[in-house]
Formats: sequence, structure tokens, C-alpha cells
Amino acid sequence: MAHVDTYLERRMFAKRLIDDSTGCWNWTGYCDDSGYGAMAFQGRSERVHRVAAWLWLDYDFEQPDVWAMRLHVLHHCNNPRCFNPEHLYLGDNVANSSDARKAGTTAKHSLRKLTDEQVNEIRNLLDLGVPHRKIVEVVDFETNTQTVSMIRRGLYYADVKKGSE
Ligand SMILES: [Zn+2]
Repeated sequence: MAHVDTYLERRMFAKRLIDDSTGCWNWTGYCDDSGYGAMAFQGRSERVHRVAAWLWLDYDFEQPDVWAMRLHVLHHCNNPRCFNPEHLYLGDNVANSSDARKAGTTAKHSLRKLTDEQVNEIRNLLDLGVPHRKIVEVVDFETNTQTVSMIRRGLYYADVKKGSE
């Protein structure tokens, strides 16, 4: 993972309202004029989805492309309040403008490879202490140890109810 800051994670989870229909993690704290969630971060005000990308997606504020405004944190779901790392991706200006043109939100189903049942199967195996690599073998589909790790930390598939079948 890019950065580990459990205190910051806790602050963000405290202001997270998960939308069951879209899977969006809506920021319940302050939002700026453009509708983006904002929070204090490293001594400044920063947009929450950018902080999420820093925490979970290897987004680096020190990159020259970030400074030059050529690299953006974009939303698959087109929801500026959302900071679900599953709905975020990094892209350039071209991606940014096409992202803005896209209407509607289908992020939950278009991006996801695992069914709710498979997510719960992974959770059960995690509870049993099965190593991540083994889980990928056992469950045998398009997943990888990083996805398993993100499920364990509650970052991926957070809206899938435990034990729902
Ligand atoms: Zn979203």
C-alpha cells in the first residue's frame, strides 16, 4: 500500500456514509463549492478523494505531474463527494475532461469482478486465517492478493453486507 496512516483512515471512516445502491462512500463532512469533500491534511485543506488516493492508490502529491496539474484523481462514479478507492482512478487532463462529460453512475457493477457471495467467501477464509495467496488459489477467479488485502481492511466491497447470500 502506498501509505499507512490508521489515524487518518479512522478520521475518514468516521465521516463515511456508504450508499448501498451505488457503493459510493459519501463524505458527510464539509464540502467545497464544487461539491468535493474537504478535510485538513498535512496542514492544509485538501479534497477528500485526493487524500483517499494518497492513502490507498499510490497517489503522490510530490509527483511533478501532480504539481503541474497533469495528473488528477478522477471518479468512475462522477460523484464528487465519493472517496471509495474502488471508484477512483488516476488520469491526465484528457481523461479528466472525458470523465466530466460522462453522465450517470454505473461504477458498482461495471468495475466489480466479484459477486457478493465471493466477497463473503473471501471474508470467511480471512476469518479462518487462510493466507491471502491461498485464498486467491482457492477462490479461483480474477482476483489477487492486493484485492484480498483491501477486502480485509474494509476498503474494497465495503458495502457488501457480511453474510449476505
Ligand atoms: Zn463513488
